[in-house]
Amino acid sequence: MKYMPVQNFINGQFVDASTAKTLPLISPIDGIELSMVPMSTSADLDAAVTAAKRAFPAWSNTPIKERVQVFFRYKYLLEKHLGELANLCSEENGKTYSESVAEIEKCIELTEFATSLPQLVTGEVLEVSRGVECRTTHVAIGVVASIVPFNFPSMVPNWTIPNAIALGNCMVLKPSEKVPLSAGRLAQLLKEAGLPDGVFNIVHGDAEIVNAICDHSGIEAVSFVGSTKVAKLVYQRATANLKRCLALGGAKNHLIVLPDAIPDMTAQNVAASMSGCAGQRCMAASAMIGVGNIDHIINKICDEARKIIPGENLGAIINKASQQRIEKYITDAEQQGAKILVDGRNTKVAGKENGTYVGPTVIDFVTPQMSVATKEIFGPIISIMRTDTVDEALAIENANPYGNAASVFTQNGGMARYIIDRANAGMIGVNVGVPVPREPFSFGGWNDSKFGVGDITGKSSIEFWTKLKKATTKWNSEAGVNWMS
Ligand code: NAD
Repeated sequence: MKYMPVQNFINGQFVDASTAKTLPLISPIDGIELSMVPMSTSADLDAAVTAAKRAFPAWSNTPIKERVQVFFRYKYLLEKHLGELANLCSEENGKTYSESVAEIEKCIELTEFATSLPQLVTGEVLEVSRGVECRTTHVAIGVVASIVPFNFPSMVPNWTIPNAIALGNCMVLKPSEKVPLSAGRLAQLLKEAGLPDGVFNIVHGDAEIVNAICDHSGIEAVSFVGSTKVAKLVYQRATANLKRCLALGGAKNHLIVLPDAIPDMTAQNVAASMSGCAGQRCMAASAMIGVGNIDHIINKICDEARKIIPGENLGAIINKASQQRIEKYITDAEQQGAKILVDGRNTKVAGKENGTYVGPTVIDFVTPQMSVATKEIFGPIISIMRTDTVDEALAIENANPYGNAASVFTQNGGMARYIIDRANAGMIGVNVGVPVPREPFSFGGWNDSKFGVGDITGKSSIEFWTKLKKATTKWNSEAGVNWMS
């Protein structure tokens, strides 16, 4: 084992979980055993919630301008340790080093946004009657939980950590059992940045601990990012226990390509979108709909895909089960009559034979009923469908139950606008393969890609992580109030 067994982080200390049940942590890059992860019990969660509850009064009463000082220092520490954090991210997740660097840079950007929160949560004040004021204040909600997936070991935790904590809450993070190492390092950096003990805690585990979070009476709010199947379970369970919940789910993102799209730029964007992070992104292009004759662009997409080399500029798939699942989708499509233009099955990387890789795959002549057209594949695969009209393309896009992202590639502004207005997704791109909004704009899909109100990042997250206090004040006895006074 390369690293010590993973521990929980409670009240500012790394501690063993109260369980003998562990899972091995295997690097997808080369199959070496990195560590082992404890499957914590509800007793471990109790300890974390107790620590967070104890820290809450002092932390939430610290002025926000002081709270964000921790995040100015945390941002500096992320920058200082960028290379080390990126290496850890690649080792446990399998993405390439440059993708991991981009992930940590995004953590820095998310933290920068949190440092601007004092300017954004100033509340409002209005003289509602002579001498009478109404004033609003955003107040922290208490102990909150953040449950995260495997595909961004640092970035998705940092979607929630800086904002929720800067706004005065105390947090219990449940990392993915597939990538538990980065979270531990983030905890160390938060402590080094001066975050008081108990404000941030980590409990490792699987479904059992997620269920315990949803049931725990000491937790006020639950944010979740992961697959739609689990997002629905978490949303239903947490809200049934009267907690506020925001649960982001899976995706099936469509790119609509029109014949007037710039061929090289479109091909490069499509190939990058479908293969970045080995397709294991909720914003990855998974289906493409060509309107009219776009053969010249498809040829270029294949050329771009062939430049993507597993183990070099294409990372690994998280584990063997996922690799096999992805390959089965390709085989099923082939058997149903689709044409595999670039085939990523049976990929081996020399010297890393125990790693789990799928090469870039381009599948043409897919029909809307095939599983590669309807299911989230989460691999470096693009499934190409063809239509005669934009409305047929929109009908395919809008029939899919997800609604994270959609993009259009065209030089026709009117047509782009037509698609922006009609695509049934929360994040839309025009000539952009991965249309992630940057802060202060917020991240969040629609339909089966998100359950709950509001988004998880940016300005929208302020509403989720705080409750609004409304104070009506009158300090002069002669104030002219003639209602309900
Ligand atoms: P997952 O749903 O399997 O796991 C997410 C979290 O839920 C993990 O912490 C895991 O331990 C826990 N979990 C797993 N099964 C559970 C169960 N039955 N009951 C309770 N908890 C359970 O997701 P994953 O495989 O880690 O991540 C990939 C998925 O996440 C993809 O579907 C991807 O689209 C989605 N994702 C979505 C977004 C978004 O913003 N919408 C962002 C990143 C990832």
